[in-house]
Amino acid sequence: MIGKEIHQFAQELFHINRSLTGEGVRETLHKISEHLPNINIKSVPSGEKVFDWTVPKEWKVKEAYIVTPKGEKICDFSQNNLHLVGYSEPFEGNISFEELKSHLHTLKDQPNAIPYVTSYYKKRWGFCISQKKFNTLKDGTYKVLVDTDLFDGELNYGEVLIKGKSKKEIFLSTYICHPSMANDNLSGLTVLTFLAKWLIEIGNLDYSYRIVFVPETIGSITYLSHNYKDLKKKIVAGFNITCVGDDRSYSFLPSRNGKTISDMLAKHVLKWIDPNTLEYSWLDRGSDERQYCAPGIDLPIATIMKTKYGKFPEYHTSLDNLESVVTPKGLDKGYWAIRKTLEAIEKNKYYKSTVLCEPQMGSRGLYPTLSKKRENGEVRLMMNFISHCDGQTSLLEIADYLNLPIWDLYQIANTLKSYNLIDIK
Ligand code: ZN
Repeated sequence: MIGKEIHQFAQELFHINRSLTGEGVRETLHKISEHLPNINIKSVPSGEKVFDWTVPKEWKVKEAYIVTPKGEKICDFSQNNLHLVGYSEPFEGNISFEELKSHLHTLKDQPNAIPYVTSYYKKRWGFCISQKKFNTLKDGTYKVLVDTDLFDGELNYGEVLIKGKSKKEIFLSTYICHPSMANDNLSGLTVLTFLAKWLIEIGNLDYSYRIVFVPETIGSITYLSHNYKDLKKKIVAGFNITCVGDDRSYSFLPSRNGKTISDMLAKHVLKWIDPNTLEYSWLDRGSDERQYCAPGIDLPIATIMKTKYGKFPEYHTSLDNLESVVTPKGLDKGYWAIRKTLEAIEKNKYYKSTVLCEPQMGSRGLYPTLSKKRENGEVRLMMNFISHCDGQTSLLEIADYLNLPIWDLYQIANTLKSYNLIDIK
């Protein structure tokens, strides 16, 4: 089960302090490069204008913790990087509990969870603490240390290009900016790493593949600002890969257009993998599809997920872990749902019958020569398939007409093609 390998990789990456920028992002990209040696790691300087945004300063954390009046060290960043609000500015001082409280974040209805909080675009510092721990804190003077640095550095992302026969590309994107959380989004970057490995291993691809590992939002905006003209010309389908590691539901979020080939294929695959797949609308968007499908960019990017971000109780907390939430089995299912969709993209051709009227199957050994009342199901399927091979109907559409998963037709298409009864239009 490939889910086991993916889970192991996720364990290696879990504790790295990822953020929009910084050492944790580079370390993560470096770990990905151990699986994908051809990854191109790029850097964009802080301050660069990217559309309506500016590449932020780089964030570095040396140490961060609080010492209680009793001398207990709490909210220690070195124990759990979720304790520190992402992009906290530096602070050092002794403050009252009253003042400290305004810098502490808890989740009242999940008393054991450390929340995940960031403040990328407003300067502040803060700590995240479980409600349970918070309730034990007493009045007094607290020592606070936030030894961080915000400086002109760089934003990093990784890009893998896999050449196929066509210059037309399939685009796969995931984000690499979340610290110690598993479904959102270690699952996405680990599953995508293994999908890229698979694409490289099988080779002989019809489409080319462009795979990016970017920090969410600012990373996809930066990537688009550098590449969107090229992408608009080349991309025919694509997916944002996130929340693909828990073992609950499957979920689908459409592109803004909703009717692109990415949408059609993903919906088809998910319907046959699990008829109970939850279907969301564009109004439920929340990740990089917001940029990829924005007006004027208009890329055909849909999202295949297990449980969608925001829809599982552990979302954006320390409870989103690799033990009870993301499992090898969950990752395996997420991986295969996307892999089956990519396989379907490669196989989704327009076939045209090479003969007029029905071909004579018996003379080719494809049909029982003794005509009986009850026809063999496989033969009937073959004839049904050929009856749709008009050069205008895609394999996906034929599968839908025949009410079958597209993968049930791969072998039939191969056989008929090998007998020169159909051709790819
Ligand atoms: Zn998130």
